[in-house]
Amino acid sequence: MIFQSLLPPVPDLPFPNAHHLFFNRPDQAEWEDYVFHVDALTGKARKWYELKDRVKRGATAFGNPDLFPHEGNGIVGILSENCVEYIALIHSLLAAGVPFALFPASPTPFELKHLVKVSKIKKVFTSPRNLENARIVAKEAGFSESDGIFILEGKVKGKRSFDDLVRSVKESAKNYAKPVGKSALAYLTFSSGTTGPPKGVMISHENVMSSTMQGFITGMLNKAVAPPPRSSDIPVTLVSMPFYHSYGLAAFCFRAFGVPCTLVITPKWDAKLAMKLIPKWKITMVPLVPSMILQLVDSPEWEKTDTSSVETAASGAAFLPPELRAKFQSKVKSALFQGYGSSESTLSIAGTLRENCIPGYKPIDKSVGLLMPGLQARIVREDGTDGGIGEPGELWVKGNCVSQGYFNDEEATAKTFTRDGWLKTGDIFTVDEKQNFYFVERMKDTLKISGVQVSPSEIETALAAQPDGLIKDVVVAGVSGGRTSDEKIPRAWIVLSQAGKKKGAAATIKVLEEWCQQNLTKQKWLRGGFEVVTEIPKSPTGKVLRRVLQDAYEQKKTKT
Ligand code: AMP
Repeated sequence: MIFQSLLPPVPDLPFPNAHHLFFNRPDQAEWEDYVFHVDALTGKARKWYELKDRVKRGATAFGNPDLFPHEGNGIVGILSENCVEYIALIHSLLAAGVPFALFPASPTPFELKHLVKVSKIKKVFTSPRNLENARIVAKEAGFSESDGIFILEGKVKGKRSFDDLVRSVKESAKNYAKPVGKSALAYLTFSSGTTGPPKGVMISHENVMSSTMQGFITGMLNKAVAPPPRSSDIPVTLVSMPFYHSYGLAAFCFRAFGVPCTLVITPKWDAKLAMKLIPKWKITMVPLVPSMILQLVDSPEWEKTDTSSVETAASGAAFLPPELRAKFQSKVKSALFQGYGSSESTLSIAGTLRENCIPGYKPIDKSVGLLMPGLQARIVREDGTDGGIGEPGELWVKGNCVSQGYFNDEEATAKTFTRDGWLKTGDIFTVDEKQNFYFVERMKDTLKISGVQVSPSEIETALAAQPDGLIKDVVVAGVSGGRTSDEKIPRAWIVLSQAGKKKGAAATIKVLEEWCQQNLTKQKWLRGGFEVVTEIPKSPTGKVLRRVLQDAYEQKKTKT
């Protein structure tokens, strides 16, 4: 059975560049003086007309080879925590038709090297904090620091900045927006998908437009049943979700362009800061992930925080346990929307909406909501046939927000995307008769920790790269013990080499633990521990049987 979205479809947009959906729309004529972006730490504000002007001049600079020599239209990397300039930069690149790659904001050199190899970038915009990382990127990618490193926001002596580029353009070109065509690559985000190391998910201009329209449509449906008390009220959103991830990028850099709103932007998530900013800026919308909700409700300051301005909250990127939801809602009574999606679908696949936004619709706490506009879905059984209402199976989705695949990786693309356009999510779902979708569990190897993807195979590669040669074989998989009931943490099973045996199991584990801490970001540390085994169980075709190890561990754990 194929499920069709019950929501109004996404209209076919004629634009040859996603830029046209974001700027110069007739409904934006009144926006000029709206404060669109605010730096939460400095209070620096950017109005709509200022952003527009910056993007036009930025795009003009990117389209001028004298100002921005850009051989073969190579990909430009962005290596920064959130800042106001991040949004101006990505819209300038989008308009100029220059594809970009979104690097995590605080990667380790080990992680970065892999991402550079995957994305083959030619230049990088970096925050001052990441300058050392940007140098590693330049070295790995083979461009010189003086040609290829630009500072995104702020000044660093001797370095060119995005601001320098913008200022070098006195007047923006008339044709600053390049008609690249809908299928042109807009950007790469990194995702492990269902298995393997991080890959570059290709997001096209069409994907951007389709995903953005889904947000505009659901926003309009919600507004129709719950209009703001005064027409002059504009939403004020706390933005702490990283822009390098699909949630932060597509929700706040794209969908937020649907109605005038003010984004209060923090460099990164900080629960204590969030609790100060909510009353300070009279925040009306708080987008979160379950681990952030957990930090808030567990904090002694939470009960004292004035959250009376909050009209809506949202949770996405990971499973929201009902008990956590209830704890949050005992204080914040306003609507809490749930969203489910993935990097491979640009942003969302399903989401809850306000009651009666379509006739008879009622959000259900345990459900991640209805299929987004324009999407089709299937619940696929293990034997590849379609399941129906109430039957668990892998969720497959199809629609214009679904990526064409992984950059330069046909093999991984073929595993996750079918030839006729279905994305295999690697997640088990059920659907009820009203088409509410329910997340059951992840069937894929990839873990989600604090909303961040963790690839077991990336950790295995890191462990195998430890230079002392202490292990002969290794496998990493998720085990129970995370901060929420659904969250799994990584555990490693290792086979010692001769050198490892000589060193001893305990000493080897200590070396490997330290190695991980030096080379991987925190979510990837082996909080589930290490276990020495004599061999890694494998199928006759050589496939690692992670499940055997995971089940044995969980059984042993429940017995003790
Ligand atoms: P990412 O590509 O980092 O956005 O990760 C996508 C994956 O996160 C999905 O395939 C799910 O496994 C998980 N995920 C996202 N949203 C939810 C949700 N609301 N409930 C449960 N899991 C989710």
